[in-house]
Amino acid sequence: MTFSVTILGSSGSYAAPNNPCTGYLLRSPGATVLLDCGPGTVGPLQTEIDLLDLDAIVLTHCHPDHWMELPVLRNVFTYFAVRTELPVFGTAETKALNDAVTISGRAETFDWTTIDPLSTLEIGDQSWSFTLADHPVETLAPTVVVDGKTFVFTSDSGPGWDFTEAAQEIDLALADASHLSAFEGGSIPHMSAREAAVRARQAGVKRLVLTHLVPGSDPEAHRAEAEAAYGGPVEVALPGCTFTI
Ligand SMILES: [Zn+2]
Ligand SMILES: [Zn+2]
Repeated sequence: MTFSVTILGSSGSYAAPNNPCTGYLLRSPGATVLLDCGPGTVGPLQTEIDLLDLDAIVLTHCHPDHWMELPVLRNVFTYFAVRTELPVFGTAETKALNDAVTISGRAETFDWTTIDPLSTLEIGDQSWSFTLADHPVETLAPTVVVDGKTFVFTSDSGPGWDFTEAAQEIDLALADASHLSAFEGGSIPHMSAREAAVRARQAGVKRLVLTHLVPGSDPEAHRAEAEAAYGGPVEVALPGCTFTI
């Protein structure tokens, strides 16, 4: 088995009719990790794995489109496919919100560890580190290395973040490209497809995948704008796609 990233959902801010919010499955020979747990992701997660095979969950920030399927996953592990103390890693803000919707006495389903930009994690053979994204809440952009291969997810980020902060050599980048360049320069805390692509090109990213497109967006318009800035092929994250690194 190689290191791969499977798209469970890639819609930004809210789910599209056939595309849940953010959720990615990172599989390597030594670990199976859910990166973000946005609304609607537990369904497609079951088409990829037996839920009991999940080793950990990493949540990048507290915005609801990135974690609010977690209480639903708790239902699964509390009442049906019972398991306890599944490791969950997330920010302090996300923990506070999760605690507010956790029924007392059932907290043992997850073993929560609060993380910040200085945290490093070893999950099986996956080495995780983080940089602080450009977003209104504490948002962690993960860098994951397996056997010398590097994956970076921008999480949600405006243009004040750069790939060069994350790693020197990036084999696959999944980049927030919520909007098109026509909306640059305003108060939107996300990158345009062009902004993500310029940063990827400058950092020498080997393969660029756009994500977090808002429902109703034209994926081809995002791809075309990004390819012009990147100077090569760019892909758009669609549910069910697997990218092997
Ligand atoms: Zn988001
Ligand atoms: Zn966000």
